[in-house]
Amino acid sequence: MVEGSIIAKTLYHDSIIIGAGASGLMAAHKYKDQDIALIESNPKIAMKLKISGGGKCNITNRSVEVSNFYGQRDFIQKILAQFDKKALLDFLKSEGVNPVLRHNRYYFCKESAQEIISIFQKSLKNIPLYLNQKVAEVTKKEQFVIRTQNQTYQCKNLIIATGGLSYPKIGASDIAFQIAEHFGHRVVTPKPALVGFTVQKEQFWFKELSGLSCQVSIRVGEKTFADNMLFTHKGISGPVVLNASLYWDKGEIEVDFVPSMRLAELEKCSKKKIPLPKRFLNTFLQKYPLSMLKSYRFAPAGNFGYSKAEVTRGGIATDEVDVEGMMSLKEPNLFFLGECLDVTGELGGYNFQWAFSSAQNLKLSKS
Ligand SMILES: Cc1cc2nc3c(=O)[nH]c(=O)nc-3n(C[C@H](O)[C@H](O)[C@H](O)COP(=O)(O)OP(=O)(O)OC[C@H]3O[C@@H](n4cnc5c(N)ncnc54)[C@H](O)[C@@H]3O)c2cc1C
Repeated sequence: MVEGSIIAKTLYHDSIIIGAGASGLMAAHKYKDQDIALIESNPKIAMKLKISGGGKCNITNRSVEVSNFYGQRDFIQKILAQFDKKALLDFLKSEGVNPVLRHNRYYFCKESAQEIISIFQKSLKNIPLYLNQKVAEVTKKEQFVIRTQNQTYQCKNLIIATGGLSYPKIGASDIAFQIAEHFGHRVVTPKPALVGFTVQKEQFWFKELSGLSCQVSIRVGEKTFADNMLFTHKGISGPVVLNASLYWDKGEIEVDFVPSMRLAELEKCSKKKIPLPKRFLNTFLQKYPLSMLKSYRFAPAGNFGYSKAEVTRGGIATDEVDVEGMMSLKEPNLFFLGECLDVTGELGGYNFQWAFSSAQNLKLSKS
């Protein structure tokens, strides 16, 4: 040993989870009675959970169907069936947390996301947690060897719960994809989703309406969403746009600016009665005929990127992961949970439902 240098000991646990976010924490909770540990790059656990849903965490939805997710149907269906919305709400209740239903659709924490984080903080009293440890590399000899900037860990079971690429400022990294590819997995090209659209020159007039919002419906491919759209200085955003972004690749989308009226009704109606902000209507009608309010087609230029996207679409291909316990079909004792998999939910609590369902579906052998 060179004098003065510190060579840290290798830390061993039977099972190690990388990522103390939604899925990693739920998995740790499930296996809290085994020799399991968590490694996290942030100085705190659950930083995304903490800011989610405007600080109140939209945990799940009154209606959770496979059709609310982008990904392989059978895989999603089987995992949701193992731990569905009711199971999640029962779990929370058993821990003293009773989410409230908003708009008759979305389950949110009553006061703050801390209610859920506290559940995991309690279980972490018995689970080793290594914070400020950014995993840089994983290899395997007889066991998995995990390296961070200043520490080496070893384990028999390795659980990857490091999420996607969205919100890099609170710890997102591509480590799940690097590890998956290292062990021979296919990664479906990731892209930002649940994110606003930027616009092409022809729609730069949207930017002049920055701050306005209206109730619209948007058709993208086979999907139609109805909700609020917000004009911003960058393009368009709001819940309806975020949902549309999940299903958009390239090409046109179609906006119905007056979904509450049929075309015939609209054409007969006086301009004053059209349920749209005056400034929008005047700008629109200077450029296009009235009928086009019902079917305005345009191709977004792109999206606002990972710094604004709530989630990442794409990820580790699910046909190479065992639906019965989340183990890799390429590398024994390697597991993947949560958003790093090629499954993405719509807006409305579906992504936490997915993170928690996949974590509850984790099956580790008894050590
Ligand atoms: C602003 C915002 C609001 C959202 N609101 C909602 C909502 O209300 N409802 C909903 O359903 N979904 C919401 N989402 C999406 C939801 O937060 C994610 O889908 C969910 O957290 C994914 O869970 P996960 O466990 O897969 O990953 P995460 O919760 O992202 O956890 C991954 C963890 O791994 C850690 N990590 C990453 N790389 C490394 C590394 N190299 N070494 C060590 N640790 C690492 C990260 O720091 C993080 O703590 C929101 C997302 C954002 C960004």
